[in-house]
Amino acid sequence: MGTLLVTGGMGFIGSSFIRYWRKINPGDRIINLDLLTYAGNPYNLVDLIPSDTYTFLRGDVADAGLLDRIMEETQLDAIVHFAAESHVDRSIQEPASFVRTNVLGTQQLLESARRAAVPRFILVSTDEVYGSLGGKPGAFTETTPLAPNSPYSASKAGGDLLARAYYETFGFPVIVTRCSNNYGPMQFPEKLIPTLIIRALHNLPLPIYGDGLHIRDWLHVDDHCSALHAVLEAGRPGEVYNIGGGNERTNLEVAGRVLQELGLPQSLLEFVADRPGHDRKYAIDAAKLAGELGWKPERSFEEALSATIGWYTANRSWWESILSGEYRNHPYLKGGGR
Ligand code: NAD
Repeated sequence: MGTLLVTGGMGFIGSSFIRYWRKINPGDRIINLDLLTYAGNPYNLVDLIPSDTYTFLRGDVADAGLLDRIMEETQLDAIVHFAAESHVDRSIQEPASFVRTNVLGTQQLLESARRAAVPRFILVSTDEVYGSLGGKPGAFTETTPLAPNSPYSASKAGGDLLARAYYETFGFPVIVTRCSNNYGPMQFPEKLIPTLIIRALHNLPLPIYGDGLHIRDWLHVDDHCSALHAVLEAGRPGEVYNIGGGNERTNLEVAGRVLQELGLPQSLLEFVADRPGHDRKYAIDAAKLAGELGWKPERSFEEALSATIGWYTANRSWWESILSGEYRNHPYLKGGGR
């Protein structure tokens, strides 16, 4: 591919993608642009030493001057845009930063990339832009109307539709992917599966919103990365591709499974007041990606969940440094990175 700008590469999926990409294309150059918000953790890529093929820049995707400088100095072959505010509960507490990064930041990146004529641009969006299937059967397809319900999903839908507009208006060759819920190593502890695992490892009750029957489709992060790889190589500009695992589970089933894997009693499940505007069901039809690009997920949910639990059990120091705040002492948070 040549030179890739990856935004949000210190987060959960972005760091997995960088590791994935370097394994399959070790000669490519990656520039990782990340603001290092609370969700950006330099220890996610602690093994990556800055070199001719890897550069880290601490910066904001909404910073037009910075983006223009990067694109003037370096001819990019592709951009993979992960950077976002990503946590639904936080978007309910404080929506403004979601609009700033997910809408304005995405627009700024699209604009700089368009002016620099970057030939490939993947916007990593989410199935949450479709809203909720409620009790209905079936699954979201790429033509399902967008009907986001949380400030998070509305802000992602804003960026997603701007990508569409940049293709329709300017012919800028952007591709949008909409993926279901990810899980795997190094996911920030606030998200559902790490919360469940870490609380279970402390023998604490596992909080379950409402009746626990909300349904999500789950995809292992490495399967998300292989889907992005397929889209980056052969996706058609202007298109949207759904990415999903075909693993629809209720939150109650997921929590129950975590307890079972760790040999703990189901009595640790604790029902708490539901999240406002909580979508009942997401399910994703990824047939277009399978049919056009031949992608399918490799991992079974139960096996990969078990491996993920194993990772959190074996890597306590990774999440303990987040819980204690110690991870914010990384040198990149004192200076600007390289
Ligand atoms: P994350 O919260 O773990 O990481 C986000 C990263 O973006 C962090 O490193 C953060 O520092 C960085 N960032 C935030 N604001 C920035 C800004 N203004 N400029 C530069 N960097 C900034 O998120 P994640 O779970 O890895 O998700 C990555 C992307 O994938 C997001 O766009 C998210 O909407 C999308 N997505 C996530 C899931 C999921 O289940 N986690 C599913 C589908 C799509």
